[in-house]
Amino acid sequence: MEQVPYLDWGDSRHFDHTQDRPCCLCGRPTPLRSHAGEPVHKVCAEAWNAAHPGEARRYSKPVKDRPQQDIGTWRFHNDGPVTDQRVPVLGQVITTNALPGRLTASEQRQGGLFAA
Ligand SMILES: [Zn+2]
Repeated sequence: MEQVPYLDWGDSRHFDHTQDRPCCLCGRPTPLRSHAGEPVHKVCAEAWNAAHPGEARRYSKPVKDRPQQDIGTWRFHNDGPVTDQRVPVLGQVITTNALPGRLTASEQRQGGLFAA
C-alpha cells in the first residue's frame, strides 16, 4: 500500500474540546477540525489528500538553501506558515513619514519656528 503523508496538526485549534461532530468524510464523531473548521479525523484528511493528488497543493514558504515542501492540499494541510498561492499580489503599500501634524527632525530642532 502507498504511504500516506502525515499531516502536522499539532496546533490546539484542531481540537474542539466542546463537542464531537460527524466527520465530513466518514461520518463518525470526531473532536478534530480542519483549518477551515470542518470536522474531520486526521487520518481521514490524510487519506483524502492521498486520494486527491490533483487537488491544489500548498507549499511551505521558500527558505534559503531549502526547497519548498508540499504540505498538503488546500482543504487539508499542515500547520505553520504557508505560501498563499490564491491571494493576488497585494497593491503597493504606501508608507510615508510625513504624517499630518508631525514635525521633521529639522523642524523640531528649530522648535517649530521658521527663520525670517
Ligand atoms: Zn473520519
